[in-house]
This record gives sequence, structure tokens and C-alpha cells, in this order.
Amino acid sequence: MSEFAYSKGLKRRILIVDDEEINREILGNMLNDSYEVSYAENGAEALKMLRESAVGFSLILLDLLMPVMSGEALLDTIKNDEALSGMPVIVMTSEKPAEVSSIRHGADDFITKPYDSPEVIIARCERIMQLYEDNSIIRRAEKDELTDLYTREFFHEYIRQTDGYDEASSEDAVVLNIDHFHMVNEMFGRDMGDEILRKLADTLGQIFGDGRCIGCRPDADYFYLYVDHRDSYDGVFTELSEELAKYSQLPKIRIRAGVYQNVDKHIPVDERFDHAKLACDRIRGDYTKQVNYYSKELNDADLFHERLINDIDDAITNGDLVVFYQPKYGIQSDPPVLRSAEALIRWKHPELGMISPGEFIPLFESNGLIQKLDHYVWRQAAAQIRKWKDEYGVTVPVSVNVSRVDIYDPELENSLLEILKENRLSPEELMLEITESAYADDAKGLTDVVDRLRGSGFKIEMDDFGTGYSSLNMITTIPIDVLKIDMSFIRNMNKDEKSRKLVELVMEIADFIKVPTVAEGVEDLSQLEALKGMGCQIVQGYYFSKPVPPEDFTRFLADAKAAE
Ligand code: C2E
Ligand code: CA
Ligand code: CA
Repeated sequence: MSEFAYSKGLKRRILIVDDEEINREILGNMLNDSYEVSYAENGAEALKMLRESAVGFSLILLDLLMPVMSGEALLDTIKNDEALSGMPVIVMTSEKPAEVSSIRHGADDFITKPYDSPEVIIARCERIMQLYEDNSIIRRAEKDELTDLYTREFFHEYIRQTDGYDEASSEDAVVLNIDHFHMVNEMFGRDMGDEILRKLADTLGQIFGDGRCIGCRPDADYFYLYVDHRDSYDGVFTELSEELAKYSQLPKIRIRAGVYQNVDKHIPVDERFDHAKLACDRIRGDYTKQVNYYSKELNDADLFHERLINDIDDAITNGDLVVFYQPKYGIQSDPPVLRSAEALIRWKHPELGMISPGEFIPLFESNGLIQKLDHYVWRQAAAQIRKWKDEYGVTVPVSVNVSRVDIYDPELENSLLEILKENRLSPEELMLEITESAYADDAKGLTDVVDRLRGSGFKIEMDDFGTGYSSLNMITTIPIDVLKIDMSFIRNMNKDEKSRKLVELVMEIADFIKVPTVAEGVEDLSQLEALKGMGCQIVQGYYFSKPVPPEDFTRFLADAKAAE
């Protein structure tokens, strides 16, 4: 197809074909300002120009009565020539019968002589050119140039057609995505990225080529497929993973798929793929699973999540988010003394009831809302410390959780300092818990942030220690003030020898890097005594108290006062 589309601010080209010089001149003057105008004196000359022009014309204005080759003859030639038939033609006549016959011969419109006002002529020309260009854009966008898969519109169209042929057949909607694909582009360049996408599209064609398969690449690194139903997709994408592995050795880059099996053909195509995409996105970052299947439960969970996302702002304004406090006791003295507390968020939803952080923290971490929530908790906690100081005359430092998302906020330190200032507190009164696995994500980046925070006087506790796979080497170099042993070790320490040995090992590591330890999830006296024997300094858990609302926490304050 010829390239006559109007693009990049270039003027559209119009060819005026008329044997009368005066007519050419009048029309030319009308159009000169807005278009690049060329002229021909008869059909033969026009045809030569059309054939030789590399870029073609956006419109041909054609007189009918001309010597050498008439307008009608040229019109027939153009409309029967594949290379030229995409160009619109407006015929210029002075008599009715000629108008009718030219339209029959394929003219797109006509202009009567003598000419109307320039505005009318220009409007007619514009309309026809627009019409043609819109069509040509649609025609051109049938296939994605890179992978030769269909574009979204055509994909939908072909699916509707397939559904129409055979209503009884079963199809699956499949969505594939490459985790961290941007890293390929960043590290190996866009050409390599493109090559991988092409290769994947080809491989998909081979995998599904036997049956019905309609493919599309709606954007970047997403592939959508509409295929004959299969009971299982186990191992189906192994080939793709191998293909990807050939190009890049990065472990985080991998293929994951979401499948909506036996699609309900009564729901729109879009919705079918939303289902598959939901299943696909749910296993983002979960390296144990390559394929995930859409289900009703998944959908319900998603609706629940949407609800939570919708309601978070109201929850903050209405005070439905409540910060609870769980005491931490120093156990090397007798009796144990209150040393500090951990702030833990609770959501008292007016309609859904009490929601545990396990339900919404991971969700808000995945979409960034966690920052808003954490800032709220920090503020509340700081105000609470202030209140206890003022009303009870005791200082109970509170540890707040700092999500991995917060860590990369360049304003983190300023925000924290601001909160302290508002409440006239010093940094060691608001301690920061950072989960161990965040260190494993990006040890260098995190170390830099932590260094800075410590420089400002904050105390950093490494949370959930033992679950994040830090190397021993990393532990000895990382800047922290407290190690917090994960409760999974405590739970079993008096049940199996291995857990007990692990707790001892953590104590030794802490001793080696000279930081105190906190054991969380301590529920009974036997655990407490074992920990005390191993030299653990601080204990948090149901043995002392569950997390409680601030008004219930006051009963612990007397202990703190006594210990001062
Ligand atoms: P975490 O930071 O490891 O918090 C400790 C969790 O253990 C809390 O669960 C606490 O209630 C629970 N726990 C404490 N002692 C015991 C015990 O003796 N036995 C048992 N079985 N459990 C005990 P919770 O409050 O449900 O919080 C779960 C997780 O949600 C927290 O784990 C933390 O990762 C996250 N979270 C809670 N509040 C916040 C917050 O404000 N911001 C952020 N970013 N995360 C939070
Ligand atoms: Ca914590
Ligand atoms: Ca923890």
C-alpha cells in the first residue's frame, strides 16, 4: 500500500489535473496555503506523476474532459491499480449526468464548476482525505510489526468471528508476561529486547500451532492467546523459558502465565482476558509458580482487594485504622521490665469488620499505598510516645515497621525527622524495623539508606531474621542495631532440636556482631526461660501481651516507671 498518510507535520500533497490553465490557477490558489499542490494538464501526464511519485498524493482533483487521456479513463486506471487505488479522487464537473457516472467509476466525491467558495472546497477535500487516512490506519494496524501478532482490535474481532463459527467449542484465554523485562532492555539494549519478544512470539506459534490459536501483543511484554482448551498447562511454557534463558542469565527474568479455562462466551472478550491477566499478575514475583489459573475465589479476592484500595483514604480520615501496641520486655532482669513496644496496625472496617494486616499489608506493598499507611502509623506512634511522656512521665520507645517500599523514598529521612520534630522526640525513641528480606533485595541500596538513618540517630532493627536468606557475610557487614529473630524459630524451639540450635546460632551471630536480640512470638514460660538462658535480651509475644489498643497499654506503664 502506498504511503500517503499525513504525518510528522508535513503538508499533505494534492494533485490537480485540469487542461484549463485558469482552472488550475484558481484551485491552486485556494489550496496552496494548506497543501503542497502539484499540477497535470491531462490524464496521461497525471498517471506518469502518480506512478513516479515515491510518497504519493493524499488527494487527486480531477477534471473529466481533457485531451490525450480523459478524466474518466484516468479514474478507471487508478481504481483498478492496486498501488494507486488507495488514493481518493474528487471529480470536477459542470453537469449532473457526469457526476453520477464518475461516482459509479469510483470517484469519492465531486466539486461543481463554477467553483464554490474556497471554504467549501477545502472542507470537501479535508473530509475525503480524513476518511481515507482513518481507513488506512486501521488497515495498517492489523498486525503488530515486531511480532506479527494481531493488534488488540483485530484480535478481538477474530475472536468474535471464531466464537460465531463454533459456539460449542471450548477455548482458554491465556496471558503471558515476562517478569522484569525492562531489565533486559536496560542491560542488553532494546534490540535484544525486541529479538526476545520476536522469538517468544515464534515459539508460541510453534507450541499452539496445531490447534486454534489467535495471538496478540496488546502492549510491551504481554502476550494474549485465545487457544483450544487444555486441561493443564503444566510444562507447556518450558520451551519459552528455555528460549528466554538462552538470551539472558538473569534469574529474575522469567515467563509467567495466567489462564482462564473454558471461557464463558457470554462475557466480553476484554473481560475474559482481564480474568487471565489477573491470574497472571497474581504470581508476579512468586518464583515457585509459572502458571496460575483464574478462579471464582481469585476474583472474589481481587474484588476484596479493590474494596480495600478504595476505602483506605476514608479509613484514615475516619480513624478506622487503629494502631495497636505490643510490649517488649527486657528479660535479663528479674522481674522482666518493659523496654519498648511495637506499633502494629489494625483496620476496623465499618462494614467488613476487623481486617488483619496480613490481608492488606502485602496488597498495599504491591501498589505503593503502604507509604501512606506507614506514614500514618509513624505519626500515630510518635504522638502516642509524646502522650505517654506527658501524661505518665515515662518514655516508652516504639518500634514502627518500615516497608521495603518506604526505603527507596528519597524523602524517608526527612519525613521521619519531621514527625519527630512535631512531637518533640529524639530519633532513638522511634525505632525502625526493616524486614530481613529487604536487605536481600538490594543490599547495597538498603545499606546506604540505613547508614544515613543511623547517622541521624535512628536505631534499626532487622525484623524477621532467619527468613530472608542473608548470607553470614552480609550480616557481619550490615549496619544494624538489633536482630529480631523470626517467630517461626521460637515456635518450635522447645519442640525440635534443630529449631533450638538455630536460635542458639542466631544468638551467637548477634553476639559476634555485638547487637542485642529480640525474640518475637514468645508464648510461654518455657520459651522465655530457654531464651533467657541463651542470653537473649528482649522478648515480645503473647506471653506478656497481645498487641493492644493504646488505652489498654497504660497498664504496662507502671512497670516502665518502676524500671526507670
Ligand atoms: P511483624 O512485623 O513480624 O509483626 C509481628 C506479628 O506477630 C504481629 O502480627 C503480631 O501481632 C504477631 N505476634 C506477636 N506476638 C505473637 C505471639 O506470641 N504469637 C503469635 N502467633 N503471633 C504474635 P500482625 O499484627 O498480624 O502483623 C503482621 C505483619 O503485618 C507484621 O509482621 C508486619 O510485617 C505487618 N505490619 C503490621 N503493621 C504494620 C505497619 O504499620 N506497617 C507495615 N509496613 N507493616 C505492618
Ligand atoms: Ca515488625
Ligand atoms: Ca517480625
